[in-house]
Amino acid sequence: MRGRTIEELRDRVNGSVITPEDEDYEEARKVYNAMIDRHPRVVVRCTQAGDVTAAVDFARENELAVAVRGGGHSVPGFGTADDAVVADLSGMRDVTVDPERRTARAEGGATWGLFNDATHAHGLATTGGIVSTTGIGGLTLGGGIGYLARGVGLSCDNLISAEMVTAEGRSIMASAKENEDLFWAIRGGGGNFGVVTSFEYRLHPIPEIYGGPMFFELDQARNLLEFYRDYIKDAPEEMGGFPAFQIAPPLPFIPEDRHGDKFAIFVACWAGPIDQGERALAPLHDLAPVVAEHVGPMPYPALNSAFDALYPPGLQHYWKANFVTELNDEAIDAHVDHGPQVPVLQSTVHIYPVNGACHRVAPDATAFAYREANFATVIAGMWPDPTQNEENIKWVRDYYEATAPLSEEGGYINFMSGDDQDRIRSNYKGNYERLVEVKRKYDPDNMFRLNQNIKP
Ligand SMILES: Cc1cc2nc3c(=O)[nH]c(=O)nc-3n(C[C@H](O)[C@H](O)[C@H](O)COP(=O)(O)OP(=O)(O)OC[C@H]3O[C@@H](n4cnc5c(N)ncnc54)[C@H](O)[C@@H]3O)c2cc1C
Repeated sequence: MRGRTIEELRDRVNGSVITPEDEDYEEARKVYNAMIDRHPRVVVRCTQAGDVTAAVDFARENELAVAVRGGGHSVPGFGTADDAVVADLSGMRDVTVDPERRTARAEGGATWGLFNDATHAHGLATTGGIVSTTGIGGLTLGGGIGYLARGVGLSCDNLISAEMVTAEGRSIMASAKENEDLFWAIRGGGGNFGVVTSFEYRLHPIPEIYGGPMFFELDQARNLLEFYRDYIKDAPEEMGGFPAFQIAPPLPFIPEDRHGDKFAIFVACWAGPIDQGERALAPLHDLAPVVAEHVGPMPYPALNSAFDALYPPGLQHYWKANFVTELNDEAIDAHVDHGPQVPVLQSTVHIYPVNGACHRVAPDATAFAYREANFATVIAGMWPDPTQNEENIKWVRDYYEATAPLSEEGGYINFMSGDDQDRIRSNYKGNYERLVEVKRKYDPDNMFRLNQNIKP
């Protein structure tokens, strides 16, 4: 038996082992969503793969669950749990780029900010999240939707290999050549199958993009959504971005007397030749007068961190999600009813396009099953004041109730809340049974159950 006691665990771990008796425990048990208030048995701040193995061994020997924490952004707070062993990978964030091969290897706790900065230094990029503090770990394993998805696929579609620690404490590689079943499952199946200590990605030459947010009057919301659903079907694949409902933050490019007003916005990202950017965005400019915009050429990481300040750690989060194949008139009616009721500055709804390159991967080629869906909608309730929980959760739920019947049965696992576990099967459609098989093989005791859980 290895590492049954906390003392033995401390002996094995190069990073730190934090228990309720330790001063930094209060900080160590926290995650990004301040609504989550859990007391793990121990937090292992890992600095190398061996620390992850030690944490997993300790959990197995003591029959505890492992909460894997990469960037900590999970809305249901899966990176912490009562009585669990937290494998905190925030000390494992190195990113190494091979510009010749156009690949990058990143440790399991890296954030998109660190990743994008490292790849941008070589004029390269791959699909990542739209906020730079989000972890590559959770985002990639659940699929990975971002500005570049129409052009180069989901984050998981750009995954070449992953080094993993299994529930048995074994270090293994998952790729198209090794443990192919596991490689299939981790591309959309979330953190169900083990801890990824490093990810290897395919990169693309995307040094700069042309884009940014454009604010339209709220009475143009229907016009914008109708335009978007048709336009994005066959828009050039270099075109990314999404419509949203948004309260105007106090930013210099927005007229001061409009700060705090509600808008229909479009956040554009043209990842093709920069000199074609203005022309690419012309249909949006022609749509309706733009009240305010911050649009132009910029480094790709600049757009990917443009919203960071709006979303600091410590907000309350409650989200709901759906995949949508046809954004029909009824669905647009529901958005136009509920979007403008957005209660606070940080809350929003985004309707991401997931067509283009995402559609070129067969639904059973990776665990991410919704390859025919055209849109992934997230109704993201985010607010600072816990006394406003009821009002904000109600906005999300009412919005969801109105749009869910007009959507696919499943949604994107990374945009869901903790009360969405009953949707797991539908999120994976035809891939669910195969995921259960892989789960039985690699984690039969469900040690990795703190996630949108696939039960063995
Ligand atoms: C502000 C914000 C913006 C977002 N934007 C986007 C976006 O643009 N696109 C998008 O697709 N999603 C987005 N998301 C959702 C995001 O994909 C999920 O919240 C995801 O879980 C975050 O990953 P993380 O590593 O930061 O989270 P964590 O809370 O650290 O991890 C969540 C879960 O993922 C698994 N996991 C994480 N790392 C590993 C690892 N190394 N090995 C094994 N399992 C691991 C574990 O099950 C873990 O519990 C956003 C979330 C937030 C809060």
